[in-house]
Amino acid sequence: MQTQCPFCSVQCKITLHPPHSSPSPISVIQTGALATALSMEDWQAEGHPNAASQGRLCIKGMNAHQHALNGDRLLYPLIRRDGKLVRASWDEALDLIAARFREAMQQHGPDTIGVYGGGSLTNETAYLLGKFARIGLGTRYIDYNGRFCMSAAASAGTKVFGVDRGLTFRLQDIPLAQCIILAGTNIAECQPTLLPYFHEARANGARIIVLDPRQTGTAAIADLHLQLKPGTDALLALTLLKLIIDNGWTDQAFIAQHTNGYHELAALLDGIELEQTAQQCGIPAAQIVQAAEWYGTAETGMILTARGIEQQTDGHLAVRYLLNLVLATGKIGRPGCGYGAVTGQANGQGGREHGQKADQLPGYRSIENESDRAHVASVWGVEPSEIPGKGVSAYEMLELADQGLLRMLFVMGSNPVVSNPNIPLVRRALEGLDLLVVADLFLSETARMADIVLPVASFLENTGTLTNLEGRVLLREAVMEPPGEARQDWSILHAIAERLGTGHYFHFNSAEAIFNELRLASRGGLADYSGITYDRLRQEEGIYWPCPDESHAGTPTMFQQRFAHEDGKAIFTALPHQYVREQPSTTRPLLLTNGRVLSHYLTGVQTRRSPTLAARELQNFVEIHPATAKRYRLKEGQWAELQSAQGQFIVRCRLSEQIRMDTLFVSMHWGGKQNVNEATPPELDPFCKMPGFKFTPVTIRSWQPE
Ligand code: SF4
Repeated sequence: MQTQCPFCSVQCKITLHPPHSSPSPISVIQTGALATALSMEDWQAEGHPNAASQGRLCIKGMNAHQHALNGDRLLYPLIRRDGKLVRASWDEALDLIAARFREAMQQHGPDTIGVYGGGSLTNETAYLLGKFARIGLGTRYIDYNGRFCMSAAASAGTKVFGVDRGLTFRLQDIPLAQCIILAGTNIAECQPTLLPYFHEARANGARIIVLDPRQTGTAAIADLHLQLKPGTDALLALTLLKLIIDNGWTDQAFIAQHTNGYHELAALLDGIELEQTAQQCGIPAAQIVQAAEWYGTAETGMILTARGIEQQTDGHLAVRYLLNLVLATGKIGRPGCGYGAVTGQANGQGGREHGQKADQLPGYRSIENESDRAHVASVWGVEPSEIPGKGVSAYEMLELADQGLLRMLFVMGSNPVVSNPNIPLVRRALEGLDLLVVADLFLSETARMADIVLPVASFLENTGTLTNLEGRVLLREAVMEPPGEARQDWSILHAIAERLGTGHYFHFNSAEAIFNELRLASRGGLADYSGITYDRLRQEEGIYWPCPDESHAGTPTMFQQRFAHEDGKAIFTALPHQYVREQPSTTRPLLLTNGRVLSHYLTGVQTRRSPTLAARELQNFVEIHPATAKRYRLKEGQWAELQSAQGQFIVRCRLSEQIRMDTLFVSMHWGGKQNVNEATPPELDPFCKMPGFKFTPVTIRSWQPE
């Protein structure tokens, strides 16, 4: 069986071998028995040499099938009756959803219904969910969990280059770079199969510079690790730029030919002092100079960012300041050069291109642009005026719900009561809804709060395309039928729309038919998929967008001739850095940051149900420096409570000298009392609405179970 790993943006291809002696996978699931654990561990997974990871799989990919085979899978719809979720037929569940939605539309208007998607959904589902919200329901309120994943980098790339495509280069070109800056990206745990590309670059003589408050597995391969204080990335990027300009390491010919706004940088950099930056970042000045020299003087170079730098309320500007380095040194559009946002979610790239974002229509079209609206309207067979306007971001939808303005929510492929910031508000908002519908594989933390739960197909059971971090579109085909009564996402959306009288917009009989409409909707857009077909994808092992016609080979390297702005030039960022956020104080003196661990994915709904993965990390933890632990009288393995201005949670202490003494790290994969987001603040980046997951002033104390 050929499939693709659902647990990160590399999208490693997997050849899956079921055990010969086990019952068929379908009958295994239908028994609903956890005894399947033994047989699921007998399955073998191996990588595919043509994949982005060249045949490598990490532990998540090797065991990805386990959650899909888990006996906890939802097998039939559930409706809440007398406070309990009980089995219902599909007709009962769908009729009830449609009746309640109709009631909300008639009494309060369609904008009282929200749709909440996910960055792990296929391109086809992401596309259809956007269309379902806007045309099926007529609401402006749709957004998705990718808001917490890529919004800072995506919006920064769009501002600077004119379009955002995760990596502007192919993964296999990484070994051509002579200097690589990895800013807030822990590839060793999040995309482990990419690490050999960086080893190869080093073997070729490249210098690797890592920016991270923790000594991660990725930092361990670095030539230079800038272990900076959380929240200081933007300042560091400005200082690196100043050093590069002051030392004449810029590429003036590139700047003159391909950019706008260079001369406005002087005012931005006025007042930047190396020693002051070093002190604020908490790192030696000599390290900053070294990093600037290595990147500035290298003939080729790449900068890659991820959530460490992006998930802050100044993440958008911090990325743009790093992109200033790329432009000032002319390191883009040629071999061994470029910028890359290392996407986290399985379809982090495709998930943001096809219309499940509040401000976008398919093909990266703007919902506020008249000709973009007209194009999509013509594909959908509606008038442009029938497409609602711009909505709000994922967390802001929940704020609207908390205020009683959004009364119903349809969630597909997401677990908002774990993944949002400021969980006390989110919980209250979800509890106060008139109707919460959740479509998922399992009874997630959010599904447990729902009025209606719908079982969906897993990655082994649904066909669709995903776009990996390179902008490479890949086809993942179903290898088995969904268990029990679980259904395909698209058939669920169609069935609800049918009951609401808008079903004629959703008459698709396959994922391929949806993709063919998506191709039309994307035609002429920034993310143009119109030349990509399922047949080509089967033959070509993936095609890089933009691909405007079927004879086009795709675009592995972006910006070789021109950028995507109208005049073909990229734009430097000279906006000043002015942000107000709570700073550490005597009450909350430590800085809490969060992130992933090797064996888990997102809120852990799937990986906590994969026995092999779950066994590696059974519960959440706080990584704390031994000196800090001593100061707070905490010991290894002891329970601790972390408290912020928003809320508190409990985790076990894990002592480590790999973290700064002023910083605590907690993973993001657990809900309930161990959920780090109970404490994360509600402020959002003003440019992209990214929450500040990586910067929460907290205090810590020992905690005893009652
Ligand atoms: Fe590949 Fe990512 Fe899956 Fe690991 S988690 S196997 S790196 S796709």
